[in-house]
Amino acid sequence: MPHSSSPNNVARRLRRKVQRISAIGAWRDYASNQRSLGHTVGLVPTMGALHAGHLSLFREAKSRGDIVLATIFVNPRQFNDVKDLTAYPRTPELDHTSAEAHGVDCLVEPTLEEMWPAYPNPTATTVSVRGVSDTLEGAGRPGHFDGVASVVAKLFAVTGSCRAYFGEKDFQQIAVIRQMVRDLALDVEVVSCPIVRDEDGLALSSRNVLLSLDARKKAVALSRSLLAARAESAPASELRARMREVLEGSGVEVAYADVVDPVTLVPVGDDETGERRALIAGLVDGVRLIDNAPVIVEARRG
Ligand code: AMP
Repeated sequence: MPHSSSPNNVARRLRRKVQRISAIGAWRDYASNQRSLGHTVGLVPTMGALHAGHLSLFREAKSRGDIVLATIFVNPRQFNDVKDLTAYPRTPELDHTSAEAHGVDCLVEPTLEEMWPAYPNPTATTVSVRGVSDTLEGAGRPGHFDGVASVVAKLFAVTGSCRAYFGEKDFQQIAVIRQMVRDLALDVEVVSCPIVRDEDGLALSSRNVLLSLDARKKAVALSRSLLAARAESAPASELRARMREVLEGSGVEVAYADVVDPVTLVPVGDDETGERRALIAGLVDGVRLIDNAPVIVEARRG
């Protein structure tokens, strides 16, 4: 068989090059052209350092037949700690290769100047989604969800009508974005996708590369604590205590270990029964990790 028609070469020829855009005007035009051709735009917002979790979002968008428009922007407005922002992993060339290999049609890498022209000064307009933003991650990271909602609102504004894909790994983030979409009647269908985990259960995260070998071992306690809560049907307070026990027993500094209503994120009382969401966050040797899972709560008897 001639070399040029080997399956790999055929696949390479069939694979279209990803279009790379950084200017807001070109990005807006790209999305609008795709819609005028009758396509649905599938927006996948990311902060780069792409891993299999991100790729699962590309795959989901592709499987629905969308034109996949992925964005990479490390949004400084959602970092409440400058050290965390500086340490955040950045792998632009690998991301490009990976996006292209996974069928992303358009990779948008907006510049800081275009996204937040006034930075480091605050932007006059901020989107705040009260209630769901105030607890859990929001309580420990003041301003974090204002930064998230503001940047996602801008991504939606430039992209226009689209389906937007988010991972359940950031469960509270999805609750904030869904609330914003409802409140502002945005023309966006939010699609939530399951958490992708390593073989030992650790939820994939760009921050995992910051873990030392020892911390990486400890970090498994997060998913183990959720498994422990899932294995029991008990009142919410008992599930909270069980998760804390597993986390602290492994040397994780617990930020929170809560059981909440999956839409409002209000903590569940011991008189409630049914499927709720357990959310946890902890510092593992200085690296902040989060995870979550559905759990069954049972009302306290007697
Ligand atoms: P990030 O780059 O961390 O801002 O994440 C971009 C998107 O990928 C968000 O919607 C995340 O929830 C999603 N994501 C990150 N990690 C995972 C994972 N392990 N499984 C599924 N989705 C993920």
